[in-house]
Amino acid sequence: MPNYALPDAVFEAAAARFPTPFHLYDEQGIRQNARRLNAAFAWCADFREYFAVKALPNPSILRILREEGCGVDCSSGTELTLAAACGFSGDEIILSANAMPPEEYAQARALGATINLDDQSDIATLRTHGGIPSCVCLRYNPGGQFAIGNMIMGNPGEAKYGMTLPQLQESLAILRAEGVEAFGLHAFLSSNTMDTSYFPQLARLLLTLGKELAEASGLRFAFIDLSGGVGIPYRPEEKPADIELIGEGVRSAYEDLFPEGGVGIKTELGRWMTGPCGWLVTRAVHEKKIYRDYIGVDASAVNLIRPAMYGAYHHITVCGKRDWPLDHVYDITGSLCENNDKFAVERLLPEISLGDLLVIHDTGAHGFSMGYNYNGRLRSAEILHTVEGEDRMIRRAETPADYFATLLTIPGHPDDSLAAAVLPPQR
Ligand SMILES: *Cc1c(COP(=O)(O)O)cnc(C)c1O
Repeated sequence: MPNYALPDAVFEAAAARFPTPFHLYDEQGIRQNARRLNAAFAWCADFREYFAVKALPNPSILRILREEGCGVDCSSGTELTLAAACGFSGDEIILSANAMPPEEYAQARALGATINLDDQSDIATLRTHGGIPSCVCLRYNPGGQFAIGNMIMGNPGEAKYGMTLPQLQESLAILRAEGVEAFGLHAFLSSNTMDTSYFPQLARLLLTLGKELAEASGLRFAFIDLSGGVGIPYRPEEKPADIELIGEGVRSAYEDLFPEGGVGIKTELGRWMTGPCGWLVTRAVHEKKIYRDYIGVDASAVNLIRPAMYGAYHHITVCGKRDWPLDHVYDITGSLCENNDKFAVERLLPEISLGDLLVIHDTGAHGFSMGYNYNGRLRSAEILHTVEGEDRMIRRAETPADYFATLLTIPGHPDDSLAAAVLPPQR
């Protein structure tokens, strides 16, 4: 089921106040998800969710998650800056490194963040950029295919992330010689999966490996980091992942391997936490009938690239027409000069009239944040629908001045007047 937590009246009221398109987020839903996750893992004394900032990098959202006891997983220096500004302390921040600019290690170390190393060569970089902490997390890539039963869940052998087992062993020996006392293990082997055995299986794999590596290296095994990957039902016929069952499955693996406890558990869920709690609200502004019927909307792939990039399905409803028969077939398109700029292809929908408000579901993770500026199209506003039922703009829409703001001018050069003509006047 798509998330119908908010009635159409909420989207209509917001669209009466703020120009479309915009993403609207449901604070209540985000808080409920954080509470469910924390309850599902409450059996583990040392559990924490580190929300993947890249999924929804807005300080108002991060503040809500912080109030719910979550930390943050950062993938860049900019996200570290955001995390620090939001008041997250070192033990509430993870830096997941991947071909990282060296300065970003130093920045993470200065914050006291947990460092998740992607490659053995990163040890040397960390040594000279911030120094090696007493506990380091290592990212594991088992190679080949990751299967549960006979279901292939992912292709780690083709993924750029993580280290092989021999590299893990060697890294731990190097780290031990550097004075490191403890380590954590991280892996991300399946994305957007609803399979409730994924986290339990991954936990078993990492706990087993950690136990062996601790014995061989003499280092203390401090935690596993199950990372992200728990999916959401984008399609109406899909069932949501049962997070309580997932928590119990991880518990069973944990109690088999560490009945005495002592190993922490971290998660870095992004999509599961906020994905269903966001909607892209857009208006039908154009209709054309050629070989197919097209409804043009005022949002485009710059506001939500997942359909264009992955052919991803996002459910669409039309405000005020939820109960109408789905007796029209439309392609729902944006205005980009790219034929993949379609939010839906040959989708059964109710009859759409110009001016109708369309709600594109499940945009609360990897939605706004994957935006870009092709065709000079601009990023939208973000609205927070608060627990109190108020709509608060938590990011304004971009203006052309934002788009031009990074142009450089050389005084005296003939191009200077061209840039000056479009740059904001205050320069
Ligand atoms: C993207 C990412 C996540 C979040 O993934 P979801 O699919 O949104 O749960 C977590 N950890 C790392 C290291 C990531 O790159």
